[in-house]
Amino acid sequence: MKELVGMCKCCGKEIFCLDGFFNGVITENKQTYCFDCHETSSNEEENPQS
Ligand SMILES: [Zn+2]
Repeated sequence: MKELVGMCKCCGKEIFCLDGFFNGVITENKQTYCFDCHETSSNEEENPQS
């Protein structure tokens, strides 16, 4: 089963749910990213202050 969940907010790549495995990341803001873009953005936006 392959279900289209959304598109990467960064690169526009389609994000699918494959047999229960989500092929990307949903942030707290309900935005979907592919793994590559999420990795990049989390590295850039990583903030040790919390
Ligand atoms: Zn992306």
